[in-house]
Amino acid sequence: MTFATLGLIDPLLRSLETLGYQTPTPVQAQAIPAVLAGRDLMAAAQTGTGKTAGFALPLLQLLAMEGPKVTANSVRALILVPTRELAEQVHEAVRQYAENLPLSTYAVYGGVSINPQMMKLRKGVDLLVATPGRLLDLFRQNALKFNQLQTLVLDEADRMLDLGFSEELGNIYRVLPKKRQTLLFSATFSDAIRLLAGQMLNDPLSIEVSPRNVAANTVKQWVVVVDKKRKPELFIHLLRKGKWKQVLVFAKTRNGVDALVEKLQGLGINADGIHGDKPQATRQRALDRFKASEVQILVATDVAARGLDIEDLPLVVNFDLPIVAEDYIHRIGRTGRAGATGEAISLVCADEVNLLSAIETLTRQTLTRQMEQDFEPEHRVPDTDASGQVVKKPKKPKKPKTSGSGKRNLGKWVESGDASAPEPSIKPVRKVPVFNTGPRKRKP
Ligand code: AMP
Repeated sequence: MTFATLGLIDPLLRSLETLGYQTPTPVQAQAIPAVLAGRDLMAAAQTGTGKTAGFALPLLQLLAMEGPKVTANSVRALILVPTRELAEQVHEAVRQYAENLPLSTYAVYGGVSINPQMMKLRKGVDLLVATPGRLLDLFRQNALKFNQLQTLVLDEADRMLDLGFSEELGNIYRVLPKKRQTLLFSATFSDAIRLLAGQMLNDPLSIEVSPRNVAANTVKQWVVVVDKKRKPELFIHLLRKGKWKQVLVFAKTRNGVDALVEKLQGLGINADGIHGDKPQATRQRALDRFKASEVQILVATDVAARGLDIEDLPLVVNFDLPIVAEDYIHRIGRTGRAGATGEAISLVCADEVNLLSAIETLTRQTLTRQMEQDFEPEHRVPDTDASGQVVKKPKKPKKPKTSGSGKRNLGKWVESGDASAPEPSIKPVRKVPVFNTGPRKRKP
């Protein structure tokens, strides 16, 4: 199969040739013809599957081939994303795909001055990428109108709900034309997402390119158990021992990011951090330098790193486990892309046992545990498995074997997607946010 057989027009095919895309990915093969045919979509696809091109290419084609010229302060297609970084990333992809088309594209997000954005919108924009909060600000200041809107894309919809954007989404939904095409992309499908889909989509085509809620199966994942206070020391030990070249590290809090970066920099290690308290320009610079391999270790919170496309990343380290189990899938989605193998290591302390259990339940696998010699925890991490069971009975830490590498392997690799993995028990892994749709409800 080629992009041409999917029905894409020549200007887009030329852009794809420049970018070196030869074969459509599975999500593209399914999404492109459906979007071109005007269908609504509900797609379960995680980052790294090529989903951006899956919606952007047909969207650009429809904009180029159909509909009126954009008028002042109007937009014809809107892509909603959860974070500023993702807005930049999606817009950059769109810009490249649209290189040979006479279409205007732009991205708006918070954390930067609104005035240049208002100026830019005066002439109208064919395709706008936006975060929900800034979009509403612009709308309320009359810098934006939606009367010409023909397509809405909700990208990383699960994350938008996790970040508490359900109210903003409801407010946006109320001011959009009822007659429009809507495409919803989400890595995971919780009840809240299904509710959102039921309200926003009209007879959608469902696309699922990876088993629901299962992490990328090209990523080797394991856990190193350790006491909380010794995590920084263990991280540095593993970094040196493994001679890690480039690592994306996830920490739970902004303070946690800063503390680890400071510690690493204090040891002369080339590290930088991104989190929501940092100005946008600083975040983007750190990210660009990491992508250019000028930074060895990038420490990030989930919000800052959401959906980032960083090529060829061999290793992700969860310095802290995520509070929301789905974030584990997003985090490790940064490695093992496009068929490459990757590794994801989680440093887990006794306090995090319930988070570990939720991740194992969600991903339908029991993560292999290891203990590092001289870092055996005093506070034992109770046993867990994919059934959601946590064995609370405290046991004394076992002494590690001192032979070989000093590493104790407590089991075989378990890769996600393992057919023998048990089905998850029904256990809520997060609260379901309520989506307020207001008065203009669609019929399901
Ligand atoms: P995404 O899942 O949209 O974040 O895309 C992941 C990465 O795959 C991006 O770097 C894209 O440029 C790249 N990509 C998307 N589709 C293709 C394709 N058909 N062939 C090669 N690379 C692709």
